[in-house]
Amino acid sequence: MFVTRFAPSPTGYLHRGHAFSALTAFEAARAAGGRFLLRIEDIDATRCRPPYEEAIYEDLAWLGLEWETPVRRQSDHLDDYQAALAALTADHLTYRCFKTRKELAQAAASAPHGAAEVHRGAALPAAEEAARLAAGDPFAWRLSLDAAETALAGRPLSFFEEGAGPGGERGHILADPALSGGDIVLARKDVGVAYHLAVVVDDALQGVTHVIRGQDLFEATPVQRLLQALLDLPTPAYRHHRLLTGPDGRRFAKRDRAETLRDLRARGVSAAELKAELGFE
Ligand code: GLU
Repeated sequence: MFVTRFAPSPTGYLHRGHAFSALTAFEAARAAGGRFLLRIEDIDATRCRPPYEEAIYEDLAWLGLEWETPVRRQSDHLDDYQAALAALTADHLTYRCFKTRKELAQAAASAPHGAAEVHRGAALPAAEEAARLAAGDPFAWRLSLDAAETALAGRPLSFFEEGAGPGGERGHILADPALSGGDIVLARKDVGVAYHLAVVVDDALQGVTHVIRGQDLFEATPVQRLLQALLDLPTPAYRHHRLLTGPDGRRFAKRDRAETLRDLRARGVSAAELKAELGFE
């Protein structure tokens, strides 16, 4: 059974780009006679706000979308992510990183290849780590790429792209863990779990067979594929879609204060008009 999802973060009001993404996933589920899920990605309590979540339901209903209930809200399932982190830690794939943002930036600047250098690190010596913990110093859990590569023992990772990456990548794609941005953060002190880990856990728990999302997340796929391999989770098919651009040729983004769906509605644009503009009937 085909299962896909739309997974917005309630950090602002939805705009045309979100509508395009949600409609793309919804219509794909309908065409396949499959299921369409809505997932609220609200793990970052420092950025997510309840009114934005309410607005997501309102805006998607206005667009004519229907989704299964109950909606999975990530903040209700932190235990699931903790369990995944604990499993990776039990397999010696993680370490506590006490480096501050400033220290990381300095390390990147002094690296031979500059900021492009993939960050790799390791746990502090036990006594030093114990002292930092006792002092209450903040740390992030990171995935050790070195340990992950050892665990994979040369087994190549890949995923199937049914849509296209930003460079036209499609079909069978090799997911090189070294391209994953290095020792990615899995959890932080203020935010108990980071995006990549929550997404792979949820996609697996919800039985998602097709991840349909914007091309801006194509680059996130290799590391998510790596986490699936390390956690022994199934790999869905990926269908990255083009990003909508505004009249100025730039893509819509919350930070650009793109016109929101609420703004459109307030100036009398109907859902049918918006759908037609986006290429949906
Ligand atoms: N929550 C992510 C976002 O708002 C999307 C995650 C995904 O589709 O994998 O961009």
